[in-house]
Amino acid sequence: MAEGDKKIVCQICGTVFIFSRREQIAFKKKGYTNIPRRCPVCRKKKRGYPGASKGGKGAVKQVFTIKCAGCNRFFESPTKPHPGLPMFCQACKVLNRGTQPKRRKRR
Ligand SMILES: [Zn+2]
Ligand SMILES: [Zn+2]
Repeated sequence: MAEGDKKIVCQICGTVFIFSRREQIAFKKKGYTNIPRRCPVCRKKKRGYPGASKGGKGAVKQVFTIKCAGCNRFFESPTKPHPGLPMFCQACKVLNRGTQPKRRKRR
């Protein structure tokens, strides 16, 4: 490790990498003021796989098409509908919530 080199811990993988004096100068020339937070490996990884998703295959979300009991429109829901139970779309849910009759105590 030469003089002026910096040891940086990668924020992605935790590897300690050297940010050399030469690199620091090159960085400054480019106008960067912040030190790199990722090791060269992680920097390459991010460039190579934009938006790489974890999990891989078989992570397809199941969606149920349900007929709304309020407006008879079909809508999609990630939750499984219960047979015999009326299901409402998001719009009707909000509507029902807003127009719910409030119980008033009468004297
Ligand atoms: Zn890394
Ligand atoms: Zn509805």
